[in-house]
Amino acid sequence: MSFASWLDFLYPPACALCRDPLSEGCYLCDGCRADLPRIEKPFCIQCGEHIEGFVPEDVLCSQCRGCEFSFEFARAAGSAHDRARELMHTYKYGRQIHLHRELASLAREVWDDPRIATQTDPAWVIVPVPLHWRRQQWRWFNQSYEIAKTLAQMQGLRLEHPLRRIRNTTQQSLLSRAGRLANLRGAFRLSGRELRRKSVQNQPVLLLDDVFTTGSTVEECARILIQEGGAEKVVVLTVLRG
Ligand SMILES: [Zn+2]
Ligand SMILES: [Zn+2]
Repeated sequence: MSFASWLDFLYPPACALCRDPLSEGCYLCDGCRADLPRIEKPFCIQCGEHIEGFVPEDVLCSQCRGCEFSFEFARAAGSAHDRARELMHTYKYGRQIHLHRELASLAREVWDDPRIATQTDPAWVIVPVPLHWRRQQWRWFNQSYEIAKTLAQMQGLRLEHPLRRIRNTTQQSLLSRAGRLANLRGAFRLSGRELRRKSVQNQPVLLLDDVFTTGSTVEECARILIQEGGAEKVVVLTVLRG
């Protein structure tokens, strides 16, 4: 029995948000699922941030103008507010690992974006953002890996882990965007295992993380996947947008 299914067994099925009892294998009721705040159109074609007002569909937000990214674009299914934030918080810090399935189904909603849905030949390779082993030990699991694994199963895609996090970074929240990127240099590396290193060569990669805040972590991962791993391109997919 895997750690995840062991926890499923341990937690009786009830809605993680309103505690209503549910049938087996479900941890979010229909009402709470529908209530999670989604990123609605229009959104920035680069970073996926919702843009207020009536704007054309191919617009860049003010933060992305003049910015260069290694990844093609980023999409998030939900916004990291209200109950979506609560759900993610319960999952990550409350160690409710069984919620990975609900979060993967939320992430799956971005397949309504033709830029993601039409990439079928070759199909996406899903790569989770790795955690430093020390943080993983403390949290018991890598939140992004669990979601990525389930999403890969749901969509029939290959999951690979060519990246390793070799340095735990200090608090990012007080730094500017440039400061965050500098702080992350050298935090990730390609895996030492040859098969893993080569797993994304010439492949389109969907890089999966739980929350997109400034994008500096996924930017650093995307840069390594392309420059060192030889990925054809990287698109960032997160469950939530901060
Ligand atoms: Zn509920
Ligand atoms: Zn943007």
